[in-house]
Amino acid sequence: MGAFSLITDTERRVPRVVVVGLASCFGCQLQITNAEQYLMQILGQIDLQYWQLVTSEDMPDQYDVAIIEGAVTTRESEETCKAVRAKAAHVMAIGACATTAGVTGMAMPGLDGRIAEVYGDGLPDASGEFIAPRPVSAVIPVDSEVRCCPIDPLDFVAMLQRALFGSNRSLDTRTLCSDCKRNETECFYNSGTLCLGLVTRAGCGARCVNLGRPCNGCAGLSPDANLDAARAACDTYGVSRADFDKALEMFNQVNPVLAESGDE
Ligand code: SF4
Ligand code: SF4
Ligand code: SF4
Repeated sequence: MGAFSLITDTERRVPRVVVVGLASCFGCQLQITNAEQYLMQILGQIDLQYWQLVTSEDMPDQYDVAIIEGAVTTRESEETCKAVRAKAAHVMAIGACATTAGVTGMAMPGLDGRIAEVYGDGLPDASGEFIAPRPVSAVIPVDSEVRCCPIDPLDFVAMLQRALFGSNRSLDTRTLCSDCKRNETECFYNSGTLCLGLVTRAGCGARCVNLGRPCNGCAGLSPDANLDAARAACDTYGVSRADFDKALEMFNQVNPVLAESGDE
């Protein structure tokens, strides 16, 4: 683990990159193709050895940068993460599933009952042993993350550039409202409408709010989030606290901060 830099690599080898999918809809891998005009440029900077979306070949034995999409939901995927970590100089988690457990995390609580509901008594061999859904960072140290459901292609390109060339720029910890205020859009709370931007990690540029839709928190909770203050704001603007807490579950179901905050 640690800084991986093309510039300081003594062999000046083109970085070998793999893209791995765990429990996900593969939508974030698909988003990579939407980087369109930047894609050929990226491909000139890397040796793309494996991309799960487009191949049924096995993963190579050696690589430098591993991009992981999807939540960890089985023992097998847990072992995959550990094996990847042991080989890659840089591990990047992409998408809500990989960074917060995302929609997959909504299978909690009552996971066993849900599995039984879907599979009955006979789990398919291919599924392996299920474990509680968790983000990649709950299993191995992660060097960088691209958040949201799905990822923004240009965020991905920017993060990959950082991974390739080394960067000490840290991830945003601010809440989304700071971006939203810069965009000078009117706050949804003024019309009594729930918006999770109050507690969601900044970074997407308040994409949904700019399109006239409230944030549903796909970037996950910000470390700077003040849940108590946000619930108090709900009271002030006539938004239901219960609705606020329910909405948070979509992308933060397995976030310990949410569990600790409890119900007010
Ligand atoms: S974050 Fe969203 S788009 Fe990406 S893999 Fe998960 S469900 Fe699909
Ligand atoms: S709560 Fe939503 S609409 Fe209001 S400022 Fe924050 S991000 Fe913008
Ligand atoms: S505005 Fe909210 S829901 Fe939309 S992309 Fe950003 S973090 Fe995700």
